[in-house]
Amino acid sequence: MGSEGQAPLGPKYVGLWDFEARTAEELSFRAGDLFHVARKEEEWWWAVHLDGAGRALAEGYVPHNYLAEKETVESEPWFFGRISRSEALHRLQAMGNEQGSFLIRISEKPGADYVLSVRDQQTVRHYKIWWRAGWLHLNEAVSFPGLSELVDHHKVQSLSHGLRLTSPCRKHEPQPLPHCDDWERPREEFTLCRKLGSGYFGEVFEGLWKDKVRVAIKVIARADLLHQHTFQSEIQAMKKLRHKHILALYAVASVGDPVYIVTELMPKGSLLELLRDSDEKALPVSELMDFAAQVAEGMCYLESQNYIHRDLAARNILVGENNICKVGDFGLARLIKACPTTRPSSGWRAATACPAPQSARPPHTS
Ligand code: ADP
Ligand code: MG
Repeated sequence: MGSEGQAPLGPKYVGLWDFEARTAEELSFRAGDLFHVARKEEEWWWAVHLDGAGRALAEGYVPHNYLAEKETVESEPWFFGRISRSEALHRLQAMGNEQGSFLIRISEKPGADYVLSVRDQQTVRHYKIWWRAGWLHLNEAVSFPGLSELVDHHKVQSLSHGLRLTSPCRKHEPQPLPHCDDWERPREEFTLCRKLGSGYFGEVFEGLWKDKVRVAIKVIARADLLHQHTFQSEIQAMKKLRHKHILALYAVASVGDPVYIVTELMPKGSLLELLRDSDEKALPVSELMDFAAQVAEGMCYLESQNYIHRDLAARNILVGENNICKVGDFGLARLIKACPTTRPSSGWRAATACPAPQSARPPHTS
């Protein structure tokens, strides 16, 4: 880290959030700091940190989702990209937002290009925005050259219901795992803190990586796993799968026994538990539809990568902040040696190479 000198040319990028480096290769920065990006390596970009005059201060890795190209709509604090109506609702209803807090998202439906979602007391109002002849419209009467102008206008002029835009919806990005070239990590880097649950594949713990980053750690007895080289190649394939609705695999500690499979931590646990613990009021049909749509998106992605899940069930959908759903445990059925019919199970009923005969299957739990 830390070489001063000439910055590479190219577009400037702006930091969206503060970031604290965890390794010597990473760069610390504040929201609003400027960068040139020298190299894009999947989730980590090698970037040059610039001072106000555009001179290079230092260089190192930064998480790609903490940067946006300067002067693009993506760098605006109120632009949330492609999020669903229900995610917008959850985000705006979260603590820290006030009357008039707002965000702009890309429309999920035809008939609009963007949607302006605004907090109004305990509810959220949604306004369609569309392009016509090079101008943006929020209604037929007024038009704007761009989203920033639309936002500025409605900070002064009220929308319907006397609603005026105040501050952007609070944005928060989960901390990524520290940058490292090797996804096979020594077990000593992980601390198991609290047991979250257990299932057919082993136990799951909330844990810490290098005492800093909160993660979920699945602990599996080595005797239950396939040969090391088959295991490694399957994990390689799983690690490449990256999507908003797919649980991210971060690392494995597969030397020794037991083996750790480290993924992102999902604060609300499994969808099965959430469904069982909630009534119609807490989870209305619209919310259930949104869960289904998110799972379908994740599964479409897996299919596009020629990847078969083999164990899709509500207990393998994990739920995070703002009710974001992620498909988990994909491919795991292939890593495990034993045939499920020989073991007591918590509802294992995947279409695998080793299907259970109908009579031997456990009752459906999810
Ligand atoms: P099963 O799928 O049979 O329920 P798992 O071993 O996959 O068993 O998970 C056991 C439990 O651990 C889940 O039901 C869930 O409550 C919790 N869990 C699993 N993965 C995560 C995760 N990434 N984040 C938070 N909780 C998790
Ligand atoms: Mg599971």
